[in-house]
Amino acid sequence: MSDSGDPNCIAHVAFIPSSGMGHLTPFLRLAVSLMSHDVRVTFITAHSTVSLAESQTLSRFFSTYPKITPAQLPLIHFDDPSEDPFYIQYEAIQRSSHLLLPILSSILPHLSALITDMSLASTVIPLTKALSLPNYVLFTSSAQMSTLFLSYHTIFGSRDSEENNLFAIPGLQPLPKSWIPPPLLSDKDSLFRTQLMDNGKKMLQADGILINTFESFEQEPLAALNDGKVVTGLPPVTPIGPFAPCDFERGKPLEWLEGQPMGSVVFVSFGSRTAISREQIRELGDGLLRSECRFIWVVKENKVDREDNKELGELVGKDFLAKAKDKGLVVNHWVNQGEILRHPAVGGFLSHCGWNSVTEAMWHGVPMLAWPQHGDQKMNAYVVSRAGLGIWVENWGWGGGEMVVKGEEISKKVREVMDNELLRVQVAQIRERARAAVADGGSSNKRVVELIQMWKNTR
Ligand code: UDP
Ligand code: UDP
Repeated sequence: MSDSGDPNCIAHVAFIPSSGMGHLTPFLRLAVSLMSHDVRVTFITAHSTVSLAESQTLSRFFSTYPKITPAQLPLIHFDDPSEDPFYIQYEAIQRSSHLLLPILSSILPHLSALITDMSLASTVIPLTKALSLPNYVLFTSSAQMSTLFLSYHTIFGSRDSEENNLFAIPGLQPLPKSWIPPPLLSDKDSLFRTQLMDNGKKMLQADGILINTFESFEQEPLAALNDGKVVTGLPPVTPIGPFAPCDFERGKPLEWLEGQPMGSVVFVSFGSRTAISREQIRELGDGLLRSECRFIWVVKENKVDREDNKELGELVGKDFLAKAKDKGLVVNHWVNQGEILRHPAVGGFLSHCGWNSVTEAMWHGVPMLAWPQHGDQKMNAYVVSRAGLGIWVENWGWGGGEMVVKGEEISKKVREVMDNELLRVQVAQIRERARAAVADGGSSNKRVVELIQMWKNTR
């Protein structure tokens, strides 16, 4: 056995996530899962993080799992005030990635593999090639979104794929053009597009692509990817999810939930980095009151949590707060989403469809009302509605000013999800399938065991 000093460790894997809780969370969960299979883990992070949520989560993670070795990548300064701060951080990490080489080559015992965020693939894959170190890309969104991510560089510029307001991803049924992230259709250059194109192209050279999904949940895109229909020359695309929430993420349940009847509360949150306009906040508040459902609502007006400093009354209106007193809990700060979704009082989730939120809703069996806001979220909402995990009102459009959805309309859809018995039964079945996929002998679990076996043999 190795020079690890730990005779039970069978392989040594390092992780490098990019930025934002949506990327960090699946990396942490996969790291913990590999550790539970006796894999030695080194976890590399860029310093400093964009959000407070990331830095707090990382300190909790490292103090809970002292066996996991932290490593820090120093960052070269890069800024562009016109771009999204999380994309700027991807770019800063990419521009600093030469500093990763000495880190990777000095890690002992020698690594069996590196698991890289898809948004860092274009600069990290060449480094691991130089070191002959196997590189597996962890794609932190849906398999559906990965079909676009991986093929976009073959489509860009040709416009052949755009016709009659449809957009054709090779090997799949054409989709409405309105589902494609707007920066990919725009003539304007953006970090979103250049990064996605470079990373998607480079991922052909990865040793494998891992996705936080499971076989029977996204069969069609997974088959198209692995049959070479989306793009030729791809490495294996392996579904290994949904990643289970970890012990270190547990917290106290919200006291407010304790007194609420089973399945009576709708949880409303747009994730860790989605700002909602003041006008839309007011309509959403109106919709929640009209629905007459009980609710927990996380209100956010800024992308980066460090900037969320407005008084709640100023955001949602003092009138609203008075009216909501008996019906709901409204907050403008981080909540433990896992504790909320696992609570039996929660019967619905109005969500932007960040992929972690989708996997958490399925894990806890909570029906979704999908309201995608930007980026990959319409692709994810499509997966949600096709799989029967929730309802997506397609004509609500993107967030960020495209349109303001009225309170009355929101209230109807909230009720539609909360009162839908059939949906509840369907979602309970998805929950069982999801948990079975990662349990011993399940489809995703088998893939993880195979990967570890392979890493063990290549050491
Ligand atoms: N999250 C949370 N509390 C919050 C906001 C977010 O626990 O107040 C967690 C959520 O459970 C999920 C992650 O942060 O694990 C957000 O990732 P997701 O992919 O859903 O969306 P993103 O924030 O990247 O848009
Ligand atoms: N974006 C985000 N959180 C938000 C709003 C936008 O992560 O709350 C992302 C979104 O994916 C978009 C990029 O940031 O591609 C640029 O956002 P911008 O607000 O301003 O939208 P756009 O210029 O694309 O209309």
